[in-house]
Amino acid sequence: MNDDVMLTLHCPQCRQITDVVTEGNNLVCLDCGWRFDDKTTSRVLDCTSEIAKAVSSPIDPASATY
Ligand SMILES: [Zn+2]
Repeated sequence: MNDDVMLTLHCPQCRQITDVVTEGNNLVCLDCGWRFDDKTTSRVLDCTSEIAKAVSSPIDPASATY
């Protein structure tokens, strides 16, 4: 499995939906470099691994809300 996961999340600094990538145990916004706090990161990564188990395809950008 790939360690780096690309996600689409709401960044509190950009104040919009942005591309976010996992960096080790961190979640980093690709737009502004914002690092999400530990609580959010673990919750998202937990959720992501659940999704990864069910669906092995990446998140469809067309279904994201901009
Ligand atoms: Zn951002």
